[in-house]
Amino acid sequence: MDYRFVKTTCPYCGCGCQMLLEVLDGNLIGTMPHKTAPMNQGKLCIKGWNAHEFVRSPNRLTTPLVRKNGSLQEASWDEALDVTVSRLREIKEKHGGESVAFLSSARCTNEENYLLQKFCRAGFGTNNVDACARL
Ligand code: SF4
Repeated sequence: MDYRFVKTTCPYCGCGCQMLLEVLDGNLIGTMPHKTAPMNQGKLCIKGWNAHEFVRSPNRLTTPLVRKNGSLQEASWDEALDVTVSRLREIKEKHGGESVAFLSSARCTNEENYLLQKFCRAGFGTNNVDACARL
């Protein structure tokens, strides 16, 4: 049995609480507050306490979905990316880059969120970018 804790930062908001992820045999099974972290001093809010739960949720999407004839249908990554790129190009050509907004997620890493905002500003030409992790 391999049981250990991995220290990390809660991704859900800008407070930056430190937490310990409880890992059993390679599976994430729980979250504990970090007792000596200056920010949270052994406390987490309810979102932090449950930060591990989405990882193994049966409700997570496991394949891209593309809307066809009014309903979402499973698609390959290539198809989903092709549809996304062509629709974004079409919208940008018709209405300009500022007509689009991008929303990222607290469930992404800081690095992933950084890449998204870089793509938006430098690549797509819009400053309309936000994430639910912002307070
Ligand atoms: S969501 Fe809660 S636990 Fe996570 S950083 Fe914000 S206040 Fe801390």
